[in-house]
Amino acid sequence: MRNMKITRIVCPFLILALFCGCMANSKLEKSTSIHQEFGDSVHEKEYEEKYLINITYPKTRIEALDAQIENVLKETKASYLKQVADFSGSQKAELNIDYQSYVKDERYLSIKLDMFESLNENKETIQTLVYDQKEEEFVHLDDLFDEEGIKEIADQAKNYFQKTMPEECGSKAFSLYSAGTLQNYDTFVLRKDAIVFYFQEGTLFDKSAVFELCYDDIQKHTKLASEELSVFVPYEDILNEPVKNIDPNQPMIALTFDDGPTKKYTSAILDALKENQASATFFVLGSRASDFPEILQRMILEGNEIGNHTYSHKQLTTLSKANIEEEITHTQESIHDVTNHYPNVIRPPYGSKNEDVMQCAEGKKIVTWSLDTEDWRSRNTETIVNKVLKEVKDGDIILMHDLYASTAEAAIILIPKLKDMGYQLVTVSELYDYGKNEAGKIM
Ligand code: ZN
Repeated sequence: MRNMKITRIVCPFLILALFCGCMANSKLEKSTSIHQEFGDSVHEKEYEEKYLINITYPKTRIEALDAQIENVLKETKASYLKQVADFSGSQKAELNIDYQSYVKDERYLSIKLDMFESLNENKETIQTLVYDQKEEEFVHLDDLFDEEGIKEIADQAKNYFQKTMPEECGSKAFSLYSAGTLQNYDTFVLRKDAIVFYFQEGTLFDKSAVFELCYDDIQKHTKLASEELSVFVPYEDILNEPVKNIDPNQPMIALTFDDGPTKKYTSAILDALKENQASATFFVLGSRASDFPEILQRMILEGNEIGNHTYSHKQLTTLSKANIEEEITHTQESIHDVTNHYPNVIRPPYGSKNEDVMQCAEGKKIVTWSLDTEDWRSRNTETIVNKVLKEVKDGDIILMHDLYASTAEAAIILIPKLKDMGYQLVTVSELYDYGKNEAGKIM
């Protein structure tokens, strides 16, 4: 009955207002905040025999900032590759870097780089860069606060942690790393409403920690003031998903796009799908869901499927079961927050899975692929198009990434062409529902 189904979606109203004062102690960044306020995302992947590299970083067009970001990435990559050279684990080594960017106002821009390395152990590092566009220089905490101010920040941070995690604040490390020194508090970003401090894993606590402070709460010590926050409501209406007529007796394939969404390329692919009355499955990252709520809503409204590709694209097989669970659940929730839908399909990054992954994914289908376009390697439209046209067969699940211009262009060519060849372009779940073939399905 699926092809006759009409679902009404009550679209969530996304109100991004975070009011100061009341939110001073919210521990994690809300999934409804915009995390990439400026910069174009650049994606770098290397999947080799021994190691994986998956980097997303911003190009900001501010020379000093771009140079500094490049520097950090270059050094991190070099030290990682050096370690990889004498690494021989049963899992592939992994370097995963992603970013968030924040515009405080016309003057201050901040970048937060989240770096994850998995070799013999897993290591998470947070690095922040704050740039003053007026003075054209990088900003440290002592440029914004005098000694008294930094002490006041430290007092508030200690207070907050003692209230929220009292049993973990008795350690020597806690008193050492919470003391009001520049070094302890110099990893921060300036959001519109608050300054957010990050503490590396293995400093205050075993895990990394976050503390945010509204500008109003430290007014005595700073000229920084809260900016107007944008409030947006993407959909006022209640809309319907399209009705589909899928013929189970005709050939069908599922195009899948991983690692997005991205503003430009995902939108271009959605346009092509819509124009050709075709559907696809987008395996999105939970960390990006809240950045592009309109794109995710559009996916659903136009009859596409959203799959879970984890929150931060780590190789799940190197994580503890609790962390795998967190990667999956956090993503389910962030997708649900903006679409009112929970994904039914999961694609683990790199397709890598083990017993823990299977258990954490229970109730959802784990999906890999049957035709790999290797679009991330070639970055060439013609190569992608030719590979698909040469290899495609009924029941295929085709792997692509909505991260590159070449992939979007290939999709624009392939979608009408595949339809002309007689293939129905359906979602992965529809393929499983209607298809005779269960390509790529693990469970
Ligand atoms: Zn991926």
